[in-house]
Amino acid sequence: MAKILDGNAVAAEVRAEVAAGVPELKARGVPVRLDVILVGEDPASVTYVAMKQRDSAEVGIDSRVHRFPDDVPQEELATLIGDLNGAPAVSGFFMQLPLPDGLDPVPLISRIDPAKDVDGLSPVSVGRLAVGLPSLLPCTPHGIVRLLKASGVELSGAEAVVVSRSNLVGKPLAQLLLRENATVTVCHSRTRDLPSVTRRADVLVAAAGRREMVGAEHVKEGAAVVDVGIHRREEGGLVGDVRFEEVEPVATWISPVPGGVGPMTRAMLLHNTLQAARTTAEAALR
Ligand code: NAP
Repeated sequence: MAKILDGNAVAAEVRAEVAAGVPELKARGVPVRLDVILVGEDPASVTYVAMKQRDSAEVGIDSRVHRFPDDVPQEELATLIGDLNGAPAVSGFFMQLPLPDGLDPVPLISRIDPAKDVDGLSPVSVGRLAVGLPSLLPCTPHGIVRLLKASGVELSGAEAVVVSRSNLVGKPLAQLLLRENATVTVCHSRTRDLPSVTRRADVLVAAAGRREMVGAEHVKEGAAVVDVGIHRREEGGLVGDVRFEEVEPVATWISPVPGGVGPMTRAMLLHNTLQAARTTAEAALR
């Protein structure tokens, strides 16, 4: 029987670290504040932002939401990003994605000051990660690596296979796994004979965004399997990209949905906000 990669437990550790760090900064007069840009009324985005605000409040991080209708001009968002970059009270901020049709996220994300880029998705943050310089790391990949390491999964020398080449998950995760000295293979929708590739994995990360796509035929006996997918079932509840019941007997470690990667992603946003606040405070002293 596989052991559970318990995202709820490890995320609680991360939140406790952040909750311990916030008062120390605030006592020195350093603001610890997370701002969010929310465009449109997409119900999932509205819910995610509310959850992130609640998470922030629980660890003592102040937060503000800047809400806009979905027909907001791109320039207005660009101006706000410039203002947030220059606001000493704002430690870090992000734009909730996806943006409504008609808005181009890339030039907007590119304007975010890398020191405040708590999503770690700006081209500068991504480039710094790629060349091994310190940066704020994208929350989901960072959360996955933290979850694996905290659970005792050996990454150095391991064969890691990531099913995704997305900018949000697959590419930055590949970089982080390389940093941990794994041997990394990245798969995507054009990969030929996916099961033959994924069966090489000691660590398999399923992030294709395809409901219950990964079954026992994709998994080597004894592998650690991380399920990033989130899919709502009509009958209620969530499922991932992995057929849990089928894969669990084959794997040594497996992350559940819910309770695996999701809570880690949320916790790493808090971690990044504290890190951004610290970095800004140190820069002010120089
Ligand atoms: P995305 O941008 O659509 O990327 C999906 C990736 O998977 C692409 O690289 C795609 O290949 C690849 N792919 C799709 N179908 C495939 C197939 N049949 N075989 C092999 N590769 C395939 O998605 P995303 O934004 O990264 O999100 C992926 C999933 O993770 C979604 O379910 C999302 O809800 C979830 N997610 C969860 C969290 C969390 O905190 N748990 C955070 C972020 C995302 P191509 O590049 O060739 O198209």
